[in-house]
Amino acid sequence: MPLSTTPAEFDLAIVGGGLVGASLALSLAPLGLRIALVEAVSPVQGEQHPSFDERTTALANGTVRAFRTLGVWAGMEREAAPIRKIHVSDRGRFGSARVDAADQGLEALGYVVPNRVIGAALWQGLSRAPAVEVIAPARVTGSELAGASRVVHYEVAGEARSLSARLVVAADGIRSLVRDQAGIAADHIGYEQVAITAVMTTQRFHDYVAYERFTEEGPIAILPLTDGRCGMVWTRKPAEVERMLALSDDEFLREFQAAFGFRLGRFLRIGQRASYNLMLSRADRHIAQRLAVVGNAAQGLHPIAGQGFNLGLRDAMSLAEVIADRRVAGTMDPGDANLLQDYADWRESDRRRIVAFTDGLVRLFATPLGVLRSLRSLGILAFDVLPPAKSALARLSVGAAERVPRLARGVPLAGIR
Ligand SMILES: Cc1cc2nc3c(=O)[nH]c(=O)nc-3n(C[C@H](O)[C@H](O)[C@H](O)COP(=O)(O)OP(=O)(O)OC[C@H]3O[C@@H](n4cnc5c(N)ncnc54)[C@H](O)[C@@H]3O)c2cc1C
Repeated sequence: MPLSTTPAEFDLAIVGGGLVGASLALSLAPLGLRIALVEAVSPVQGEQHPSFDERTTALANGTVRAFRTLGVWAGMEREAAPIRKIHVSDRGRFGSARVDAADQGLEALGYVVPNRVIGAALWQGLSRAPAVEVIAPARVTGSELAGASRVVHYEVAGEARSLSARLVVAADGIRSLVRDQAGIAADHIGYEQVAITAVMTTQRFHDYVAYERFTEEGPIAILPLTDGRCGMVWTRKPAEVERMLALSDDEFLREFQAAFGFRLGRFLRIGQRASYNLMLSRADRHIAQRLAVVGNAAQGLHPIAGQGFNLGLRDAMSLAEVIADRRVAGTMDPGDANLLQDYADWRESDRRRIVAFTDGLVRLFATPLGVLRSLRSLGILAFDVLPPAKSALARLSVGAAERVPRLARGVPLAGIR
């Protein structure tokens, strides 16, 4: 394989053009930097794309505001179903809790959009961003520090190439090669749970209610879609999954119906099923020399509370904002150590709170112990009568951290501060 001698030079290179990497590239595009985005799987490969597959994602209101500000919401809006209410229940226990957007003074608690629709809108946005050079399909094979830059090695159609950038961003997912090679350790704690996902048709209209149901076998989420169908996520033990994926559609729906009940009438049809191993993963740090880590490369969460992408996008928005601010202040080096430290400091508490919330929820509802079971149904009841608990959840749905990135407030990064 011939090696190119002089690497192409960029101010910033993003490795991974999934949901978070592509959003970061769009956030940075107006700032006057030369940006490379290297992605292994070309989005035209559609269903096989690891980030833009047949899943559906619940987007927090802050995420929607950011997409609007970045000019990509118009490409998703027609397929974005508002969540007007969330209904939480525990199978075999008394009590359920409801959070109503209207009670919280919100139009919606968030919006559900198919991942492939989000992906198409983001990549269409990138095609209108001349500052971003998209290199795809191209697989990054290594990266190392070289003076005041980092060099990134990648392969395009079997040919080895490299580029250099003053800042490299690892947006290459939970098993991030770039993060690992920069010496940032990450822990991966398996939940011994697998999420089975599909789109299905129900007898009753969902009326824009999202359901979260905790069962002995694992939590269930049902999310409303614009065409009247629902996205489903059913978390099961790994030993069960092979059998469940092999069931006929009718058999699968029968088991799913028994676990969820009849709040949406009978389950009528189901599309293709997919499965995802679930784990909690956390990088030790968000930064190294001339390197920042964002999205799943920084933390991968259980999907129980629909927080993974929303949190990962806040990584991207915060990084873009500290770069925008330094640029206005006259520093044009996006890999400057103080700038990166500002980014790392900003992300710390948001990540700690969301990881603790999500992981705590998984563990509380995974336990079979009687006392804990009673506590959690008490918890659900208390939740239903305690307005502060509800507004806390509603606030989370808005994506409010202690310091909210400007993009999540609807303020563009270029120009106004
Ligand atoms: C079942 C399920 C349901 C979920 N539901 C929600 C939800 O409702 N709300 C929510 O907020 N979050 C949800 N999430 C989480 C969300 O999907 C992730 O947080 C999000 O996909 C993370 O995006 P990312 O871009 O950081 O990583 P990824 O999606 O993993 O993308 C990484 C990208 O990097 C590329 N890549 C990897 N290695 C290389 C390399 N060597 N060279 C070049 N490119 C590379 C990959 O091709 C990929 O495109 C859910 C997750 C699951 C599993």
